[in-house]
Amino acid sequence: MEVIGIDLGTTYSAVAALAADGRPELLVNRDGERLTPSVVLFESPTGVLVGTLARRSAASRPGDCVQFVKRRMGEAAAVHVDADGRGYRAEEVSALLLRRLAEDAATALGRPVRDVVITVPAYFDDARRTATRDAGRLAGLTVHRLVNEPTAAAVGYGTHSGQDGVFFVYDLGGGTFDATVLRVVDGDYEVIATDGDRHLGGCDFDNLLIGYLATRIIEQGGPDVTRDPVLSAELRERCETAKIRLSTADTASVRLTVRDRTYSFQVSRSEFEDLSAGLLYRTELLLESVMDEAQLSWRDVDRVLLVGGCTRMPMVRDLISRLTHRVPEPGVHPDEAVALGAAVIAGSLTAPRPTVTVTDVTSQALGTIALDADTGQLTNFVIIPRNSPVPCRYEETFVTVQPRQSRLHASVTEGEDSDPEHVAVLHRSVLALPPGLPDEAPIRVVMSYDVDGVAHVETIDATHDRPLGAVALDRPANLDGDRLAASEAALAHLGVR
Ligand code: ADP
Ligand code: MG
Repeated sequence: MEVIGIDLGTTYSAVAALAADGRPELLVNRDGERLTPSVVLFESPTGVLVGTLARRSAASRPGDCVQFVKRRMGEAAAVHVDADGRGYRAEEVSALLLRRLAEDAATALGRPVRDVVITVPAYFDDARRTATRDAGRLAGLTVHRLVNEPTAAAVGYGTHSGQDGVFFVYDLGGGTFDATVLRVVDGDYEVIATDGDRHLGGCDFDNLLIGYLATRIIEQGGPDVTRDPVLSAELRERCETAKIRLSTADTASVRLTVRDRTYSFQVSRSEFEDLSAGLLYRTELLLESVMDEAQLSWRDVDRVLLVGGCTRMPMVRDLISRLTHRVPEPGVHPDEAVALGAAVIAGSLTAPRPTVTVTDVTSQALGTIALDADTGQLTNFVIIPRNSPVPCRYEETFVTVQPRQSRLHASVTEGEDSDPEHVAVLHRSVLALPPGLPDEAPIRVVMSYDVDGVAHVETIDATHDRPLGAVALDRPANLDGDRLAASEAALAHLGVR
């Protein structure tokens, strides 16, 4: 069995496999490209179009086009409703992308492709990871591992360069930002700390430019183009092009024709940098907080890896050199490193002896809400701290608070705050307690993360050492088994081209 690596990106996706000489290689898609735009166009009730052609239609047919779906992963709401009124969830649209990526990989490799490793942002929580795994299944693929993107990038770079030491990965992609510190020793990749922002990426830089120019159109007596789906899709495309141009040029022009009148603007790099200073500053704060978590100073960092298309912006490089006094590693391809590393990890999974070992960490703390005996307040108790190496298993013992207590309010939370109002509650249920428990009966809460970063929870009556039932994390935002099967059947009828 050969396993390939898939970087399922917010804006672009890439697929890589190991070549005969054992080095990872990017596979080109049916359009001859190394990167496939993560765009799905619903063409007709029977089929979808994926990739560059779909992306070109984004401006003219915004209503049929779905992009940035990764930002909606793990949400229960539909991200698209087709002409027949059928709603599609993020994992379903992602499944269509994955099917196309796998089909193209099969063509490139000349053999069927079923076994994959998929990369996810490090900060993806349990629901988003589960949704990604489900997307793989819906695409008819076997997902052997979910790997964190920064970790994959580090593995790709490390195996290629043979370098060891402390790596810092700054990954600013189309929709997301990740910052990760790893220690690399001899093919051993140990993540020390990671943090990120799900809503910080290239499209936020685009949005700023869109807002800025839309305001200038209004100032010149024009309409609010952001209210018109076709015009705003057009403006988005022009603004993204201008943003990319500003990475190498001092100025870029943006033209937009609105009701027979053409608006034309010159944007300078410094204007754009002023506009986006706040976004860049948010990445800086996250960098500092990751270094704090890792208890490292910039002097301890040996190599800085820049990943993601947005790291081509000169202001990112300036930020890195100001903070770290390091020059980013030149051997890292910002668009390809993640997929290449995923292919190395995929190959290692099936090799007779692993070529690399990866220890990742949890990006989210997991805990439960209980009464704090000292304060009498309902409090969130963290059971698995964030940045714990995975897989992991932690437990904590709580006691019942009332004599002959017959029921227990069980909850699972995500987040570090002790105030229950400031954490996400993943699960709440009422468990029946067996009769005859002593006062202050001990209840053990066992929480674990599997190697993919998916959470599992159990509660145990410690008096009788009997499970009170695994707390089925019935993630309301994920598909259950029946709906997964139904969705798989429905998607199988859609043609993907
Ligand atoms: P993702 O992995 O989230 O899909 P990518 O790493 O492919 O994202 O990055 C895509 C983003 O990078 C887009 O917002 C794109 O506009 C931006 N981008 C690509 N090239 C450049 C460039 N030269 N300068 C600035 N931004 C760029
Ligand atoms: Mg990416």
